[in-house]
Amino acid sequence: MATLEFPTAEQIKDLVEATRAGFKTGKTLSLDWRKKQLRGILRFCREKHSQILEALEIDLGKSSFEGMTSEVVSVEWEAHFALKHLNRWAAPEKVRTPLLHQPGRSYILKEPLGLVLIIGAWNYPVQLTLVPLVAAIAAGNAAVLKPSEVSQATSRLLATELPKYLDPNAFTVLQGGAEETTQILKLPFDHIFYTGNPQVARIVMEAAAKNLTPVTLELGGKSPCLVDESADLALTAKRLIWGKFFNCGQTCVAPDYLLVEKSVAEPLKTQLLKAVEKFWSGHPETHSEYGRIVNSRHFDRIMGLLDNSGKVLCGGKGDKAKRYIAPTLIADPPETSPLLKEEIFGPILPILEVDSISEAVNYVNDRPKPLVLYLFSENPKTQEFVLNHTSSGGVVLNHCLLHNLSPDLPFGGVGESGIGAYHGKAGFEALSHRKSVLKKPFYLDNPTIYPHLTGRLTKFTEQLIKIWRKVRA
Ligand code: NAD
Repeated sequence: MATLEFPTAEQIKDLVEATRAGFKTGKTLSLDWRKKQLRGILRFCREKHSQILEALEIDLGKSSFEGMTSEVVSVEWEAHFALKHLNRWAAPEKVRTPLLHQPGRSYILKEPLGLVLIIGAWNYPVQLTLVPLVAAIAAGNAAVLKPSEVSQATSRLLATELPKYLDPNAFTVLQGGAEETTQILKLPFDHIFYTGNPQVARIVMEAAAKNLTPVTLELGGKSPCLVDESADLALTAKRLIWGKFFNCGQTCVAPDYLLVEKSVAEPLKTQLLKAVEKFWSGHPETHSEYGRIVNSRHFDRIMGLLDNSGKVLCGGKGDKAKRYIAPTLIADPPETSPLLKEEIFGPILPILEVDSISEAVNYVNDRPKPLVLYLFSENPKTQEFVLNHTSSGGVVLNHCLLHNLSPDLPFGGVGESGIGAYHGKAGFEALSHRKSVLKKPFYLDNPTIYPHLTGRLTKFTEQLIKIWRKVRA
């Protein structure tokens, strides 16, 4: 695998073409080859895990526990899952052959798409690059990886170390920012898998359209969290504070804002404050389990969201030199607050009170479809009502984030939060073509389909169609 720091347009073209040539050799079709690459990813995770955790610490102040669980192990989990199920996923799928086509056989082949471009984001820079790579490999593709330049240390590590574990003919890691990605996007690919914000997604999709390239867009947005009066408030608070402040709020599926029924708003706030105090022993600024903002640009953006934004229940302060922002809870932000307009993507949780869950549902439905919706409620009727009256990429009832760690659940958005899904079999399917095959023998031929029908055969066919319509009526 080739490695280069910020390649030129010429180098990008050569490397992408070389990777495509690797695909064209046909080597990626073999299941043994695919399994070898998946094992390569597993070896990379095991042998390099200390370096990976170090890079994550530099980029995001991630604790080794967070780095291990949400990055290294989640990649390993996906790779193991793919290894376990690959034979079944890749096997031809036999389907029914209608009487009309008898004698014959019908089946679906799972064909690789070809050369896949994977553009990663910075907030989980290992997971968001390598989990799509697992899917690309399982489906038998070659791939070009473009990790986010924002998480620099991790990008450098992926470019220098990952290639040692994969077939150099079929995979390339290209480093770079917007300029290099623009060059990459000028080249033809067979699929583009992008993770990041919806604005850049539009640029990616426009570039893809020029080559009619299909896309998977894993985006973000404002994921709401609804709490009704039947919820266990202490546990709700614990799970919510964990989910919100994991990776310092820089998680695409972090609860973005809270809609809580008025009747339980005050006790819930008390429990939320308790959880904040307890988790980091009152000192998140020195606690090893509390992360950092990725860079000073994002620090300024997040702190800017706090201007004229409601009552600060806790936090509200930051230290730019340390890229630290305290876990912040805001009560009753005004409608004009930027906290309610753009995705927060940082450690601030605005709390809004509603009269009822149906008011909360209307609030959610008046806004773009979120990546995930959280509901804390023990009431089955409320659960059913929310599930049936909202649309989102996914839903978690009574917890946060965990659906992301289940390879059996397709992960992706809907509407403004994304196009397509991956993880487990969904990833394999996203990066495969289901090729329909109908196989006919030579030994029997149906004469009724040809234009030189004799009168009797025409009548017979017409009778058959009549009978068929009657049966179907
Ligand atoms: P980012 O800045 O790392 O950008 C993502 C990728 O786009 C990078 O590789 C970057 O180099 C590239 N890029 C940036 N500008 C470009 C341009 N003009 N042209 C071409 N390529 C360009 O990450 P980000 O966008 O700040 O990521 C945060 C967003 O991503 C949030 O909205 C978050 O919710 C979302 N996200 C979604 C998921 C998911 O799985 N659905 C996961 C993580 C993040």
